[in-house]
Amino acid sequence: MNDLEFRQQVLDPLSASFCAAKWYNATIWLGSGQTTSCHHPPAHLVDKDKVTTNPRLLHNTDQKKEDRRKMLAGERPAGCEYCWKIEDMGRDAVSDRVYKSKIYPIEALHEAYRTPATEDVDLRTLEIAFDRTCQFACSYCNPAFSSTWVKDIKRNGPYVNLVSDGRNHFTHAHESSQLYRHGETNPYVEAFFAWWESDLHRTLQELRITGGEPLMSADTWKLIDWFKTNKGKSSTRLAINSNLGTDVDIDRLLASTQDIEIDLYTSNEAVGTPAEYIRDGLVWADWVDNVERLLSSRQFRGIHVMATINALCLGTLDQLLECIMNWKLRYGKDAISFTLNILRFPSFQSSLILPDAQRTVYRQRLETWLAHWVDSDVIHEHEINHTQRLIDYLDVVKTPHSEAFDRPKLLNDFQQFHTQYDQRRGKNFCETFPELEEWYNSL
Ligand code: SF4
Repeated sequence: MNDLEFRQQVLDPLSASFCAAKWYNATIWLGSGQTTSCHHPPAHLVDKDKVTTNPRLLHNTDQKKEDRRKMLAGERPAGCEYCWKIEDMGRDAVSDRVYKSKIYPIEALHEAYRTPATEDVDLRTLEIAFDRTCQFACSYCNPAFSSTWVKDIKRNGPYVNLVSDGRNHFTHAHESSQLYRHGETNPYVEAFFAWWESDLHRTLQELRITGGEPLMSADTWKLIDWFKTNKGKSSTRLAINSNLGTDVDIDRLLASTQDIEIDLYTSNEAVGTPAEYIRDGLVWADWVDNVERLLSSRQFRGIHVMATINALCLGTLDQLLECIMNWKLRYGKDAISFTLNILRFPSFQSSLILPDAQRTVYRQRLETWLAHWVDSDVIHEHEINHTQRLIDYLDVVKTPHSEAFDRPKLLNDFQQFHTQYDQRRGKNFCETFPELEEWYNSL
């Protein structure tokens, strides 16, 4: 059944707005006590007093129950606007509502449909962040997700003279993202572990731990230890995001996960000094060493490199992809894979702000790279598709600058942000990206 048929034959008979993510999927940020059903609806606060007596309310909030009621009645919850906009483009448009529902058995969808909207349901897929502790402060991140970003703002004050949509993310320390200090009891974390022990370890198909840097959080290690000491008790697929930076305890990770099946997700989109510029805190050689150590241990189900495609990574992205392909040749097609995720926020860091001629150079470089690897036995179909999608995105004819862009504001912010970033972080834009120097100095 293709995606459109799934929508027409499985979802629509339930209701015109039914989405299983509202029942079975969540992202929960335990540091801020917030949750959402997928990455599109805005996050909302969980009642901290209620979760103490009923930890299932970490997910089953009043807001989600109201959204479920609407979906059962065929009404559209406002927070899911992202999907409605796509579906309103045409009768055959397929939104994320389909992709987020398709991952569950059809019987589970019917079960959700039969469950009264007022009832609590157990999650099947969950992404969780214990806190925002992180030793990196990447240029496209912000203080809501990194304690090192918080230090930058507290030490140096807000970034100034930014005028585009992302400006507020760099002007304050986002205190509401971390409601409890290190060592303080966090009722949301307590509720998660209570729910994990009572139900989640049986119902969850997949648990992905994100951060901050999760391997710097004691709670991540507590959970890994649970898997180690309760071998066979849970069939939940465990996945961990890690920046695999210098301070990450790889010895402990290897020792603790010997008997556990884990997927490891790590971020990178460039090599060498450009990578270190974009992902402030990264030491390129250490990241390579850490990936090599994990690969050669052969004890992970897969290592997945997530590339966030921004304006500054394209000069060396093909070298990173080459590096990944060489790892595949040594360790196998499935040992390591990549996804290319196009940055949309903060929009002044988007690759669309680059001058046309430079975008064309980068596009042609990727075309050459893809032509070399497209028939290889070790490349996945999704990797070809992601690369082709990026090539199309960089095509100045297919994606012109004007699209949803207030270009003068974005160019102002690009220049303002990187000038201040250089001063605060001891970096040098022009030395790192010589091919962009003339353009940058003209902004
Ligand atoms: S309808 Fe769309 S936005 Fe809403 S939860 Fe489902 S996938 Fe997410």
